[in-house]
Formats: sequence, C-alpha cells, structure tokens
Amino acid sequence: MTNEPNGAAVSYFDYNATAPIRPEALAAVVEAMQAVGNASSMHQPGRQAAYRVDAARRQLADLLGCSPGEIIFTSGATEANNLALRAAFTAGSPLVTSPVEHPAVLETARTLTAESPKDLVLLPVAADGLVDLDPLDQVFAARRGGVVSLMAANNETGVLANLRIAVKAAREAGALIHTDATQIIGRLPVDVTDLDVDLLSLSAHKFGGPQGIGALYVRRGAPLPHRPLLVGGGQERGWRAGTLNVAGIIGMGAAAEAAARGLGEEAERIAAMRDRLEQLVTSAIPDCRVNGRRDQRLPGVASVTFPGVPADAVLAAMPDIAASEGSACASGAPTPSHVLLAMGLSRADADSTIRFSLGYATTDAEIEHAAHAVKRAVTQVRAVLAEADAPR
Ligand code: PMP
Repeated sequence: MTNEPNGAAVSYFDYNATAPIRPEALAAVVEAMQAVGNASSMHQPGRQAAYRVDAARRQLADLLGCSPGEIIFTSGATEANNLALRAAFTAGSPLVTSPVEHPAVLETARTLTAESPKDLVLLPVAADGLVDLDPLDQVFAARRGGVVSLMAANNETGVLANLRIAVKAAREAGALIHTDATQIIGRLPVDVTDLDVDLLSLSAHKFGGPQGIGALYVRRGAPLPHRPLLVGGGQERGWRAGTLNVAGIIGMGAAAEAAARGLGEEAERIAAMRDRLEQLVTSAIPDCRVNGRRDQRLPGVASVTFPGVPADAVLAAMPDIAASEGSACASGAPTPSHVLLAMGLSRADADSTIRFSLGYATTDAEIEHAAHAVKRAVTQVRAVLAEADAPR
C-alpha cells in the first residue's frame, strides 16, 4: 500500500496503528453516508438504517463466530476495554492483567482499583513477551472470582497470549475473562465461542474498517452487571447509549466480511512477507535483534532493535517508509515503550526499536524497498553518530 502525501510515495508499514481502509468498507461507508436515517426511528428511512445495521452486526458476528445479539457497538477498542473492565470488576475481587497491555486496559485497571490497589494483580512477562500464567493458581488460591484481562495479541511485538490456559484458570476460579483482541481480529481466525471468553474488544480500523467504530462482544449468559459508560437513550440494550454510528457500523461490517475471506491463506502470505523482511534486515544489519517469541506471533509484525541507533533518527532518515517507534499511542510522548521495558529491554534498546507492521495490501516490492531503506538509514545514522563521537 503506497500513500502519496504531498506527491511523495510512502510505503505503509504501520498496520498496527491503523490499516488502510478496504475498498469494500470505503464503498459501504460512502453509500451509507448518502442515506438519511437514525436506526432508532420508526419511519422507513430509520427502519432501512436499522436493517443495514443488523446486516453489519451479522457480518461482524460471522467473523467472530458468535451470535449478533452478543455484539455491542462502541467507538472503538478503547471504549470497549473501558466498558468491559468496568462491568467485570468488583472491588474486593482481583483484577488480573499484565504490564504489556494497551493503555486502554492498563489505565482503566489502575483507575478502577485506585481505591483498592491490592485488587490489581500484574502477571510477570518473560523476555520473549509471553505473559507468565503460572502465578494465576496462587492468585486464585488466595481469592476466587474477579476478572482476568489479557490481550490476545500484543500491538508492539505481535506476541500471542496463551489465552486458552488463562480461560481455563479463570473458569476454574469463577473469574470472568476479557481479552483485548484488537490486533488479532481480521488477521488470524478467531472463534470467540470456541475460545470461551466472556468479553472481547475490537476496533474496526485495525482490519480495514473506518476509524472511530468498534465493538465489545459480551457472551450471552455471562454474569455481568449492567454498568454502561454512556447512559441516555438506551441503545445497544442499555449497554451504550447514543445514536448509532450507522455508516461506521456498515463500514465495519463490510471490512469484517472482506477480512474473513481467505483469512488463513492471507495470514500465511503476510507472515511470509514479514519473515522475508526480517531476514533481509537481519542479514544486512547483523547486530539487530527481533523482539518477541518468533513462533507465537501475529503474521504481520516485526519489532526490531538496532542497538545504539535511535529509532527516531532512523525513521527520519527514511521518510518514504511509514513505520513506528514503539506504539502510535505512545508516540509524541518521550517515554520508552512500556511493553519492551517489561520484556527486559534497556531504555536505550527500547528507544532503538522500530515496529514494522504489514497487512492485506502490502506487496513483495514494498518489502524489498523497505529492507533497502532500513539498511541505508541505519548505515547513515551510524556514520553521523561515529562522526559526532570522533575526536577532533
Ligand atoms: N488495544 C490495542 C491492543 C490496540 O492496539 C489499540 C489501538 N492502538 C487499542 C486497544 C485502542 O483502539 P482504538 O484507539 O481504536 O480505540
């Protein structure tokens, strides 16, 4: 996928921040925006909007393997995570999560447990980015119930959690289980019913839908109190008040249907491109390191540390490659990635790490181009640093 801001061709390697909108989703959004209708209105245009929202709910449910009635539309995964944890957490019971979660989970967990900090349990993380689930037995031996919230795939490294083990431990302890599945949905097949979680968050723009729309899956029968963040008109069965974002929902449905088509083969194609990129970069720059457990990752993510070479300088030296330093949510803030630090990287190494994330529109030619650009940029930055260090 090539973007051309101001006429300059840019190869896009930031799918984990946001994916380019899929043509099917774009067409659906444009068409939906040309129609009038509040999905709650009783007249014909309103009923038409409601009908199309229902169809989109079905498309998303088909991607997730759940029933449409288990989906609550939200503004994205941030809201879905807030809503999920707010509903699932009860003061006095453990809220178990990990230090590598997205801030939308971590900050919500900290806020909810501000007055009962002992309720917040952060599981340890191994150097390969995998969350260690062994301490769950000990946590639940002391106190049963509560909620476990673990991301299905990490946004910075792509590392996939051992969710099934977490689900089993939570079930045995009578705890609820939530997963932030924002980075995995539409990238690898997920059957939420089979996975047996109670709550799952997602955001459309990570799989080629529009920004500003997402969903929370709530398992039918999950013992959850109603604790909406937004109250008002009672939409979404009282879980989320506010006029439905009809065009966003329809665009998300179209993206879900497009992403579901050939998902397994597409994941293999993307993994092969990612592996090629890693192979080209690691052979061109032998001291660089790939972060995260390599055999348990999303197909489209390569997190690479270039020791001694600041990532911001490398990115500035290759303006035709849109990749990111740590996560987009943290960019702009001069703090190193909390994910990489939790995995034991030094601050300097965390600051020397670039995340390349690719997806459905990435081409082989872009992989070759990016590998050359990275080699050139790292060599150039190293030369500048060596000159600055040289005695005068
Ligand atoms: N969770 C994860 C794992 C994410 O990567 C993101 C987006 N960076 C979010 C939650 C938040 O999604 P949104 O900004 O669309 O609400």
